[in-house]
Amino acid sequence: MKWRLDVRRFDPMSGSWPTVVADLVVVVLLAALARAVSDRFVAGGSRWLVFIIAVALLVFVVVAVPLRVMLMQQRGRADETTEALRVQNTRQQFDARFLRALEMAEVEKDALAVTARALAMCADNSAATVLLADNSEAHLQTVTATQGCGAEAACDVATPRGCPAILNGHAREFARSDQLDCCPNLVGRGDGAMAALCVPVSIVGRATGVVHAVRSGQPFTVAERDQITAVAHMAGQRVGMLRATRQSQLQASTDPLTGLANRRSLENSVRLLHQDRVPYAVGMCDLDLFKAINDTFGHETGDRALRVFARTLRNTVRAGDLVSRHGGEEFVVVMPHADTVLAASILDRVRWELAAALSDGRTPMFTVSAGIADTNECDDFQDLLLLADQRLMDAKAAGRDQVRAAAATKLPLFIIEA
Ligand code: GH3
Ligand code: MG
Ligand code: MG
Repeated sequence: MKWRLDVRRFDPMSGSWPTVVADLVVVVLLAALARAVSDRFVAGGSRWLVFIIAVALLVFVVVAVPLRVMLMQQRGRADETTEALRVQNTRQQFDARFLRALEMAEVEKDALAVTARALAMCADNSAATVLLADNSEAHLQTVTATQGCGAEAACDVATPRGCPAILNGHAREFARSDQLDCCPNLVGRGDGAMAALCVPVSIVGRATGVVHAVRSGQPFTVAERDQITAVAHMAGQRVGMLRATRQSQLQASTDPLTGLANRRSLENSVRLLHQDRVPYAVGMCDLDLFKAINDTFGHETGDRALRVFARTLRNTVRAGDLVSRHGGEEFVVVMPHADTVLAASILDRVRWELAAALSDGRTPMFTVSAGIADTNECDDFQDLLLLADQRLMDAKAAGRDQVRAAAATKLPLFIIEA
């Protein structure tokens, strides 16, 4: 409260320290007046005037002064309420802005970058990092940090179990890094005068990370703690949502048994090749006499064989080649910038690698046949698939375990420029 008396804004009924002082001055002046009147005019037994002034003084002291004090207290409370509302309003605006920023972040990396910027705004002279568990949930990694966050501000906790905040699922506050009961990961940092606030980050209902905020010297205030907690909460929700979306997109575009792209996903990728006018070759692969593997060794062994082939295929083709499970025991490979000759050599290598992969005896021996076509022959993907399938049938008829690519074709030729 400021003690400046501004006469132009002086309100005698407002209830403030200046008006209380003014009341006391009035009381003193009235008392002096009563005394003067009494000395000058009141004589003998007629003292009624003194009595009236005394009563007026008493009423003033008993009623007016406490009334002013009461008004003053009320105003203090009103000021506190106004300040609380202002803080709440600022906080709500910050939360709304952060939420809007998170909604605009389409991938986890962007959401974490926005989180770091928000954390920098939560508390002055502080630094913060966000640590999240990796896929195995066994290790913690720093995934984002506020700008200029030095090595001393970073927590080197290695596992989720090593972080008291993650372990208990509650925010933990440490006033100084030299206190006996401070977090073991904080001990001694900042010459012992470092305050830390660690708020768990829950992703899909599980505490799998932590916001680690530190400041030299001064502990975090309640408002700062609340704000950092809100940021950790909202960031966790957004990351969880983005992960769930990515997971469902992945499930919709991959084959669950082999993890390869499915037919629809491959068609989408091929559409992009056509948009960019990239030439390519298509290889249609079919496992030989696969029914016999199921019949002899059972469906589970058949599934394992399919996974072995998928892994071999993916690891043998070139990095930019598109591999998909077309259905059953059929696989399609799209090889950008390859013609039938190059594609044949790639798929022949797949045959050899398959034999090598099966040589450990853990999966029954089987072979693969393939037919190949390329965009020098026609420029429609479905037509290329039909062509490759016809050549696959030729490979089967010729005894299986081979790759067939026709040297010449009767279909019209469409040259796609690279
Ligand atoms: P070919 O050399 O002529 O291709 O003979 P094939 O036995 O491979 O061909 P066929 O079409 O007669 O049989 C394909 C088999 O593939 C039958 C089916 O049970 C098996 N198969 C298809 N999908 C799966 C799967 O997801 N898991 C398992 N275990 N087997 C599958
Ligand atoms: Mg088949
Ligand atoms: Mg087959």
